Amino acid sequence: NNLIIAIDGPAGAGKSTIAKIISKELNINYIDTGAMYRAITYKCLKNNIDINNTEEVINMAKDTEIDFRDNNIYLDNEVVNEEIRTVEVSNNVSNVAKIKEVRYLMVDVQRKIGENNSVVLDGRDIGSYVFPNADYKFFLVATPEERGSRRYKELLEKGYEVDLDEIINDIIKRDKIDSNREFAPLVKAEDALEIDTTGKSIEEVVSEVVSKIRR
Ligand code: C5P
Repeated sequence: NNLIIAIDGPAGAGKSTIAKIISKELNINYIDTGAMYRAITYKCLKNNIDINNTEEVINMAKDTEIDFRDNNIYLDNEVVNEEIRTVEVSNNVSNVAKIKEVRYLMVDVQRKIGENNSVVLDGRDIGSYVFPNADYKFFLVATPEERGSRRYKELLEKGYEVDLDEIINDIIKRDKIDSNREFAPLVKAEDALEIDTTGKSIEEVVSEVVSKIRR
């Protein structure tokens, strides 16, 4: 039987870091569902598609191929690992992700992967909507300050010029749009285990998650 592990939570709570490690420890696939919404957003920006023009975004998304192979994300068969991580993409992605028809397309891909593979997915709606019957559900949270400073460090390391307060504000704005959208919003599934990662090391959070799975 396929093992499905859902790791949800707001931006910068440590989901992808934890999910990657878990996937290696358990030797199962890892799907970064945020990367899919980012890829669509990146394609909009690159092709000058107005994100408020819902119909145009939907048509483009229907005509787009996103897949994950050997730790890379492919957008129409091109690796876009770096391109989808810019501040510009981050600041627009929530307005793309709130389009229901775009979500249908992404969720379809996610469910197909989970049909045939054991997988850990990180996102916003995995436990609540994509895989309501997931074997394990975690909901990671942390204070906005902690989440902001994690993103800040990541971006600095990549050589971006960034401002901490701006990053914190952007994260709060993104969470607000993600939590308030009509369809499949960011929400803790009732049966998800909430873990506050504020002040915790990666190892601590990983061992909390793993101890639940191995029981
Ligand atoms: O996880 P990450 O911060 O890269 O996600 C980027 C954005 O993609 C989120 O802010 C949200 O708008 C959207 N997203 C989503 N549902 C998911 C994963 C991400 O709406 N399952």
